Amino acid sequence: MKADPTQQRELLRLAQHDQQRLHLRHTSKNLPERAQAADLEARIAAHDAEHEATHAHAKAAKQAVTALEDEVEQVTARIQRDNERLLAGGLSKDLVALQRDIASLEQRKSDLEDRELEALDVSEQADAAWAAAQAERERLSTELDSVVTAREARIAEAKAAFTAETDARKALAATLASDLVALNDEVAAKQGTGAALVRARRCEGCHMELDAHVVNGLKALAADEVAQCESCDRILVRTEESGLS
Ligand SMILES: [Zn+2]
Repeated sequence: MKADPTQQRELLRLAQHDQQRLHLRHTSKNLPERAQAADLEARIAAHDAEHEATHAHAKAAKQAVTALEDEVEQVTARIQRDNERLLAGGLSKDLVALQRDIASLEQRKSDLEDRELEALDVSEQADAAWAAAQAERERLSTELDSVVTAREARIAEAKAAFTAETDARKALAATLASDLVALNDEVAAKQGTGAALVRARRCEGCHMELDAHVVNGLKALAADEVAQCESCDRILVRTEESGLS
């Protein structure tokens, strides 16, 4: 294939755009925020699994307090009823039984109140543990939100830069011979870039030193002939740096 040497040189700028696009894609795919978000999501899931029991314990402790409160209320009501009956008077035999009943109810109430205090203590501790777990959950969740926000911003940034590179590449390609661009793009589809500078008899695409027969071939080749690297297929762009004169 023949192509104007100046146009061949322009392929290096196409390659720069391609390299930049590869770099942006790689950067976007390997953002540290992606790993950080995944790590935080895993920590939140583990935290939730771990503290399901903390929540259940706090709920059960609260229910135990409520149940004891209800019992105390019932016993208090019975004591009140018995006291009313006592005041109403009646047969002395019944009154003695009533007094005994009240005494035993008072004892039961006192026992229940002791248990209620203990249950309250347990409930308060369980509540505190659950509140701490929730605060930690909130902290992790806030951290995740900010990492996700940063991640999305950087992805959008890379995407915009990628689009700008693509547009610039397209504009440049439009100024070049279509068969030259087609060959360049065919190689670029496989290698990432389609052309490479020959610098000091080395292909800068694959970094292979050119064989002596290739060097001799290039020396003899007209400037408007298109040459490709034997090892990477890239279009070899010859300049004064190439070491071929
Ligand atoms: Zn090469």
